[in-house]
Amino acid sequence: SFRVEVSAGSVLFRQGDAPTSAFLLEQGEIEVTTRHGEESRRLGVLVAGDLLGEMAVIDDSPRTATATALTDCVLTPIDRTQFAERLDDADPVVRALLLSQLTRYRSALAQLSGQREPAPSAQVRDARAQDAAVALDKIRLESELREALERRELEVRLQPILEISTNRVAGFEALTRWTHPERGPVSPADFIKLAEETSLILPIGDYVLAEVCNALRRIGGDGDAAPFVALNVSGRQLDDPGLLDRFLAALVAGGVAPRRLKIEITESLVLDYERVSGIIARCHGAGMKVALDDFGTGYSNLGHLHKLEFDTLKMDQGFIRQMSDPRCYAIVRAIVGMAHSLDCDIVAEGVETELQLRQLRELGCRYAQGWLIGKPLPVPEALALL
Ligand code: C2E
Ligand code: CA
Ligand code: CA
Ligand code: CA
Repeated sequence: SFRVEVSAGSVLFRQGDAPTSAFLLEQGEIEVTTRHGEESRRLGVLVAGDLLGEMAVIDDSPRTATATALTDCVLTPIDRTQFAERLDDADPVVRALLLSQLTRYRSALAQLSGQREPAPSAQVRDARAQDAAVALDKIRLESELREALERRELEVRLQPILEISTNRVAGFEALTRWTHPERGPVSPADFIKLAEETSLILPIGDYVLAEVCNALRRIGGDGDAAPFVALNVSGRQLDDPGLLDRFLAALVAGGVAPRRLKIEITESLVLDYERVSGIIARCHGAGMKVALDDFGTGYSNLGHLHKLEFDTLKMDQGFIRQMSDPRCYAIVRAIVGMAHSLDCDIVAEGVETELQLRQLRELGCRYAQGWLIGKPLPVPEALALL
């Protein structure tokens, strides 16, 4: 078996040893001690189910204590890579917290044993300091984002979406902007991702929706041709079971018809097909529309697409950018055709030139969005386009 057996009285590892593995104690008892001159101090006794020797493995430093079997013991060794690889993949904030606690623990231990701490090499120290700086900067930015939200400093802009055949602005996509007092504009790709790592995305999403409701009220209009606003919703928001009810309540309170709101779900989330089909059904039940965002970026399983009743496909800007290439043009034509066959509206994203717009018109693509039509605008400027 992979297990290790040690008999009562034997030493598993000694203070100062280089770490090779950690252990899970399966049976027996182990005493952990640290030396202080001639004297040995007991730090604790470990029993079945406890982990030992993990500290030195985590930061690759010499053992800070000696482990001696009090009874016959059975242990499962845990290779250092099992921790190291997970730590490398971990959130840098979590990694920095762990390492800073370990450092603190080690110096407390060194004091207790009256020994000097083994100093890490300059290289290790630099790498750790840099890791910690990155992590702290991230935490700081997150606090500032939370504050910006509280002070209502996030700005929701509206980017126009053109109905190509009528040359009329049919609706908008809401895109959120954050201008940091010192750093300047922070890309939403960055701050939304940061907010996504914690539940901060939920109040941000509610805030954006409230702003969108205000905008929809100001846009006004009634009937089927009234302009819509599309709202980006991320994975963690969709995990929140209360999200759609909150959205609906906000729409009702704002006196806005739910069909004027379109939820954009990015293609990478569609991998979880069951979940997305449930969300689409609930949106439709409440009267809201749903768009598949970034279509063609490589995540959609075409085998499932026919079962997902999206109202709109948003063709990723990558296709539009390369449309001057005949082969790419052929793909765009096929995507437009596919959307029509699925009875789905289609939006071309990232339209920047007259040529692209003309080509899209030829192909019968219904909607276009991009800098050529308009950048994401403050609400009053967006209203002026109607
Ligand atoms: P997205 O949903 O794919 O949004 C389209 C992005 O393309 C926007 O970037 C938009 O400004 C940009 N864009 C529009 N037209 C053009 C064009 O002609 N050329 C080029 N090069 N770019 C164009 P932005 O505003 O930086 O947003 C980045 C991403 O951040 C969005 O990608 C969306 O996924 C996310 N995001 C933005 N606001 C929100 C929000 O309020 N909530 C959530 N959950 N995500 C948001
Ligand atoms: Ca979008
Ligand atoms: Ca997106
Ligand atoms: Ca997109």
